[in-house]
Amino acid sequence: MVRTGLPVMKAINRVLVTAALTTSGTLMASAIANTDRPDEATLKKYRQQAAVTELWEPVPRPVEAGANGAPPSDAIVLFDGNHLDQWESVKSGAPQWEVTDDQLVVVPGTGNLRTRQAFGDVQLHIEWRTPPVVAGEGQDRGNSGVFLMERYEVQVLDSFENKTYPNGQAASVYKQYIPMVNASRAPGEWQTYDIVFMAPKFGRDGLIKRPATLTVLHNGVLVQNNVTLHGPTEYIGEPLYRQHGNAALELQDHGSPVAYRNIWIREL
Ligand code: MG
Repeated sequence: MVRTGLPVMKAINRVLVTAALTTSGTLMASAIANTDRPDEATLKKYRQQAAVTELWEPVPRPVEAGANGAPPSDAIVLFDGNHLDQWESVKSGAPQWEVTDDQLVVVPGTGNLRTRQAFGDVQLHIEWRTPPVVAGEGQDRGNSGVFLMERYEVQVLDSFENKTYPNGQAASVYKQYIPMVNASRAPGEWQTYDIVFMAPKFGRDGLIKRPATLTVLHNGVLVQNNVTLHGPTEYIGEPLYRQHGNAALELQDHGSPVAYRNIWIREL
């Protein structure tokens, strides 16, 4: 009896609750219909009041978004796997890095690569991969770097189970900001940086007026949240701003055959 009685009671309760809901629902609907619904004049007044805070200009220009990291329609494609027309060697003019299998691979000893075009405020997407065969440790394991304006480095490093000073690990703003978390993938796996960089602004006197800021997503994970740079990212000593104009995006040869692909940038 107990076994059958409980479901029966539950069923009765359900009916009662449903009935109550239906009743109150009907009551509420009729209240809205008969007493609470504003008349047309009041509705017109509401619409006018709401319109005061509607902003109709400017209309954002349409941009076709890319799928799975592909460049949006207004991006400048810096490397799509085919050629290095947009790049030059800092040392020697013609880029010496290797283009193979849609990748751009650092050839150690040939020096940094930089874009021919100079940039200011940008959104940057770049994919990178440290060598699958682990060699070296600390700063000597898969080191490269993404330099905004040739001066401000977001570190590229194999930071998967590789101890180093945290303000020099992958996704650090080199020697200025430790990433919020370590989102590194294993060596040999492709990783992404999505970066928003706001260039420093200098006054007429040449002094810094508004420092540079950086936001970095590492493999889709926020690791630098609008951090304010103290100056160029220096290996030795304190950073110090010196006036400069727009400058290239630069990739670092740090003696390790790090690979890059799918590099695009949007001017902001
Ligand atoms: Mg580096």
